[in-house]
Amino acid sequence: MNIFILYAAILLLILHTALSANIFLTMLAIFLLGGATIGFTEYRHSLSDLGEREEKQMEKEESAKRKLSLEEQELDGYISELRQKEIIIVSLYEITKNMSQNLTFSEIFHALSAFLKDNFMFRKAGLLILKEDGAVPRVEKEYHVYKEDEEAQAQSKETAGIDHAGILNLFAKDKKEIFIARGNSEEVFEELRLNKEVKTFSAIPLLSEKRFVGVLIIENLARIDFDKLVIVAMQFALEIKKVLLYEKVEGLAITDGLTGLYTRRYFFERLNEELSRSKRHSFSFSFLMIDIDDFKICNDTYGHLVGDIILRDVAHLIKESVREIDLVARYGGEEFSLVLPETDKKNAHLAAERIRKKIDEHIFKTYDEKLKITVSIGLAVYPESSDASELIEKADKALYLAKGSGKNIVCEYKK
Ligand code: GH3
Ligand code: MG
Ligand code: MG
Repeated sequence: MNIFILYAAILLLILHTALSANIFLTMLAIFLLGGATIGFTEYRHSLSDLGEREEKQMEKEESAKRKLSLEEQELDGYISELRQKEIIIVSLYEITKNMSQNLTFSEIFHALSAFLKDNFMFRKAGLLILKEDGAVPRVEKEYHVYKEDEEAQAQSKETAGIDHAGILNLFAKDKKEIFIARGNSEEVFEELRLNKEVKTFSAIPLLSEKRFVGVLIIENLARIDFDKLVIVAMQFALEIKKVLLYEKVEGLAITDGLTGLYTRRYFFERLNEELSRSKRHSFSFSFLMIDIDDFKICNDTYGHLVGDIILRDVAHLIKESVREIDLVARYGGEEFSLVLPETDKKNAHLAAERIRKKIDEHIFKTYDEKLKITVSIGLAVYPESSDASELIEKADKALYLAKGSGKNIVCEYKK
């Protein structure tokens, strides 16, 4: 606005000076007019520059805002992914904590399948436990579970089980996890003879210290869940390692170091198995408790090393006197327990007498000594005694009776 007043003033001045014929003033006024015009133009330019700059600045701000909101979205996604992972890890911790009490493959698979059912959508999950035969792995155990009701699945058109050779072949070159979907790996679906209902197939090798110990298989898992499953599988491989270790240790604990007979703990397991088997088939079986007579005197007279040799030899003689299917264990210090499957009281007496006689007639050769040893035997029979503790209690009482009757004798339980 001011610029127009200035213009008007200068024009009036030019007019006035021109009229007053003052050349100097007229020139000055024209000069002023030129300066003002230049100033005005520059002012206008600077105004438009400012507008442009402002516009650019606004654009910049807009794009920064857009970027920020994208980053925010990304961050939100990342946070929710982290939360998901956190949930998985927390629940993984829960199952592995629970698994710590599980010491067999079927128990850990049970815990794993419960976890998978709670956290993933899938059709069928399977676990192959491998054993290395030389350099080639072989499937030793197989477990599988369906996400949906087993009965409904049983009615579905499932035909073939898990193709062991096909699965192992997937990992022949390298032990890397595999996710395939129908449409892009049709030939693998063919090779594995997968059911038409299987749309995606995941197989994850389970490694324990680089040893290929198992494969986790899941059908119809969403691609988005695959990475989570890989984390689960890594954790699960540790559980498998624990069970393998436990089996190894337990294998060592099955036999008693001195006598080579079964340990008491293992014996109880087998006794219970024999009880259920005999119940199922209505068989009878016999239980013997054998105790060396006056072993304390033997130890005190000849020393513990001699005592150990006798213990080992008695174990050997007992084992020699019974059948392959009979179960012989070292029950305690100088006590032995036996399960004679499908053996009634009469036959149990015969077997016990055979053992007693064999030991009675044997001459034990230790370092410098030749010794004679006898045993007393207590006998109880299933189904007269109907459970493990009753069998043990009655055989024990019968043994007590034998000791009271002068030792080196077989007695059965009598009320
Ligand atoms: P009884 O005829 O009444 O059975 O008398 P016993 O002396 O055999 O019975 P007791 O239970 O009093 O003694 C058992 C002995 O067995 C005591 C212990 O020194 C000995 N014994 C237990 N385990 C071992 C072992 O591993 N090695 C040796 N050398 N002796 C053992
Ligand atoms: Mg004893
Ligand atoms: Mg004794």
